[in-house]
Formats: sequence, C-alpha cells, structure tokens
Amino acid sequence: MIDLDPIQPICIAGQWHQGGGDLYHSLYPATGEVIARLHAASLEDVEAAIVGADRAFRESGWAQRKPHERAAVLYRIAALIRERSEALAQLQRLDNGKPIRETRNLVASAAATFQFFAAACETLEETITPSRGDFVTLSVYEPMGVVAAITPWNSPIASEAQKLAPALAAGNAVVLKPAEVTPLAALALARICIDAGLPPGLVSVLPGKGSVIGDALTRHPLVKRVSFTGGTRTGKHIARIAADKMMPVSMELGGKSPTLVLADADLDHAVAGVLYGIFSSSGESCIAGSRLFVTREHYAPFMELLAAGAAALRVGDPADERTQMGPLITAQHRESVERYVELGLQEGGRLRTGGRRPQGEVFDRGYFYTPTIIEGLSNDARLCQEEVFGPVLVAMPFDSEEALLEEANASCYALAAGIWTRDFQRAWRLGRALQAGTVWINTYKQFSIATPFGGWRDSGLGREKGRLGILQYMEQKSLYWGLNEQPLAWAGGQR
Ligand code: NDP
Repeated sequence: MIDLDPIQPICIAGQWHQGGGDLYHSLYPATGEVIARLHAASLEDVEAAIVGADRAFRESGWAQRKPHERAAVLYRIAALIRERSEALAQLQRLDNGKPIRETRNLVASAAATFQFFAAACETLEETITPSRGDFVTLSVYEPMGVVAAITPWNSPIASEAQKLAPALAAGNAVVLKPAEVTPLAALALARICIDAGLPPGLVSVLPGKGSVIGDALTRHPLVKRVSFTGGTRTGKHIARIAADKMMPVSMELGGKSPTLVLADADLDHAVAGVLYGIFSSSGESCIAGSRLFVTREHYAPFMELLAAGAAALRVGDPADERTQMGPLITAQHRESVERYVELGLQEGGRLRTGGRRPQGEVFDRGYFYTPTIIEGLSNDARLCQEEVFGPVLVAMPFDSEEALLEEANASCYALAAGIWTRDFQRAWRLGRALQAGTVWINTYKQFSIATPFGGWRDSGLGREKGRLGILQYMEQKSLYWGLNEQPLAWAGGQR
C-alpha cells in the first residue's frame, strides 16, 4: 500500500501542492480499501494550470529546441519509467485493480511509447513540395500550444503516455485530466517528466470530476486541442464544445467489436483468442471482442470449449501473478454490468456461463464478477448493440458469409474486429470488408505503438500511435518563398 499520509499533492504548472477542490479517496477495487487521499483540482487550479502551461509554452524554449534535443528528454522519460517500472506497475494495480501481469505490460508500453515518439520527433521530416512558379514551396509543422488530454480509468498509464509523449514531442504543453477514480499513475508520470528535465509548467495533472474539470479545460480559450479517450457520449459532448471554438479534437471512444470464427479456423487458437479478447482486463477494454459470431456447423462444439475455458479462468487477487481477471473498477460499475446481464436475459438471452459475483473470502470486499457468456440473442438486441465495458460476451451462430458481414458491420461502433480462419483469401476479403479501425486476423488485442489506432463512426475521430501520431499535435503550415527577379506581373507594370 502507498503512504496514506500526507494527502497526495497534485501538479499544477510544475508546482506540487494540494488541489483546491474537495478531499476524496482513491479506492483499491479488489478490497475497497482507501489507497490514497487527495484534494481534487478546483476551477482556480484549472486556470492556473492552463495559464502556466501557456507561459511555459511561450517562454521555456521547449518548442524552439531542436527535435533531437526534445527527443533526448523523452528518451530520459522512457528510461525513468523503466527504472521505476515495478513501483509503477504496483501503483497502477492499486489504482484500478488490474492483475499485476497486465499492469507490468502497461508500464512497459508507456516506456515504449515515449521512446517511439522521441524517435518520431527526431526523424520527422518536413517537405519541399514541387514548385509550380517562381517560388520554393515547403510544408512544415508547428506545435499548437496548450493541449488538454482527458483519459479514462481502464489503462491509465498507457493511455496517458499515448497522449503525453506525442504532444510533448511536438513541442506543446499538456494539461492532463485523468479519470477521477484513477489519479495516481498520471501524477507519477508528471513527476517522471519533471525528473527527466522537462521544463517546469509544461505538464500539469488535474484530478477531479470530468463534468467540472474536464469541461472547464475543454472550454478554455487557451486550450488549442483536446485529445480525449473515453465514452462516446462524453466524446460527443466535448466535440460540440470544440465545434464552437473551431478546435481540433481526437476521440478514442467506445466499441462493440465483432469476432468471426469461420468453419476452417484453428479452434484451439480461436478459443484462446476469443477468451483473451473479451475477458482480459475484465472486459473493461474499448476493443473487447464482445460480439461473437461462430459458423453454425461448429457452433455447438466451439461454445462447449469456450464456456469451459471461461469458467476455468482464474478470477482473483490482482497481486497474484497467476490471476487472469481482477475486479471491476467500482461497485457502481459492477452494478451497471449486472443490469446489462439482466437486460440480456429479459431480451430472451440464455446464460451459458457466469452471470454472478464469485463467492469466497477473497471476493467479499472487492467488485468482482465472473466471466459471462449469453446466447440466444439476435444482433439487434440492446445487449448486442450497447457497450457493457465488462466481462460479458454475446455469442451468435451465422449461416452465410454475406449475412455474417452484414451483422458484424451492423453497429454504431466500428473500433475493432477479429477473424479466425485458415483461408487467406477469405481472411483478406473479410478483413477489407469489415468496417473497423483495426482488424485482427488469427490474433486479437495485439498492439504495436508503430501502428495507427482509432475508430470509425461512434468509436472515434483521428488516430493515435504510428509515426504520424505526432502530427495530431501540430498544425501544418505551407511556406512560399519567392524567387522572382521581377515584381509580380499583376502590379508590376504600374511603376
Ligand atoms: P467517460 O467518458 O465517462 O470518462 C472519460 C474521461 O472523461 C474521464 O476522465 C472523465 O472524468 C472525463 N469526463 C467526463 N465528463 C466529462 C466532460 N463533460 N467534459 C470533459 N471530460 C469529461 O468514460 P469512462 O471513464 O467510463 O471510460 C470508459 C469508456 O472509455 C468506454 O466507453 C471505453 O470504450 C472508452 N475507451 C476508449 C478507448 C479507445 O482507445 N477507443 C480506450 C479506453 C476506453 P471522470 O473520471 O470524472 O468521469
């Protein structure tokens, strides 16, 4: 456990002090114990953080440093994350209750993200475009100023690094609003940025309620871009505010991703992939493969294997290296998942496995829920269309590839999809026809920082990651550099 006393300070324009808002407790989802006490940021803190960020952006010289000099600081941040990796992984486990094996991977991914964007920064090329007149034309990029980053609770350190690293690499200042219930990783990251030599003021972390702090950040005239990860409803609210400011936003939102198991799939691989796709991170994952379509001819045996696999998953103490599924984030969120399961049953679904809280001393105080599979629904049921964000899979048989594609694409979301088949032509055909930002073929939920990520439709706007991820945080500018030996012809004859 971390030290409960004194109250955690927050980071406002490079200064550490207590927030001006209400005192609140951060709880460990596995036991409900208090792991940290802190004051939320106040609206005055928001103002101070943004004004301080703007000053640091204009006066610290960060934006004017050569790209390789900014990169050097980012490499140091990556090195410090690695140096402190075990402490960060334990902190993240306490903050959101994910199993320690997963939080170690998230910390490694955060370090890799800083390393990658350091490299992207020092190798970013600006171009001389083909000239069509007596001028040289160039396309260059400029930082934007103060960027607001707003993140959810499900993978804090990784999603926060995914915004901080490219935004800082691009030369901006960042004001980060982590989810109210998971403030600790963001605060630890801010400390690392400062320890690595980032000029003070360029990073602030403002824990507190999104409807207050996040809203004020989004509306502030000095904030030039919002990078948001969270629910679709919140994303649309932010996008409306951004429209009035004509401010660019990027949105990583929800999903209801289909997984397709075809007749020629390797069943062992498909079972393992589907289990991992939906139940890892307790299903609290935007890319969870939560809608399963299995060819009718293999549906019964496949579901037999899948249900047995789900029932055998090790749900339990997140500190135990063998645990595969930890608790859900809060008591309220578990109730929301339970309501969805009830809804599915009311809609005519049948419970294949799970659908209850696990029993036993280890589960008594935490927000645990068993891996759940529901069958017998059609794709237009609410449980098949709405994001549960928990360990709940809906499974449906399909008869033809045509019907399969239609149903898989019939969703307001289009974040990710999975295909299990050994037929490479079919994989290609379906992979191209599925409407989703990411399609996994014979694998699921694998990530590379070098590969763009984002959603279509209600799943989002813009792309994070990939070399071009840095450009989300820059404005493009064209330069025309005249070479004329004579005055411009239009007015030139007047003298
Ligand atoms: P929310 O949209 O409720 O919250 C996300 C963040 O936005 C939190 O920091 C929240 O603060 C803040 N927020 C809430 N209201 C406002 C507002 N009016 N203005 C500005 N900020 C606000 O989502 P959840 O935290 O419940 O996260 C789960 C959602 O995130 C799921 O839908 C999931 O699919 C999506 N997600 C998407 C990912 C992607 O990459 N596509 C990755 C991970 C999650 P507070 O903590 O106070 O609520």
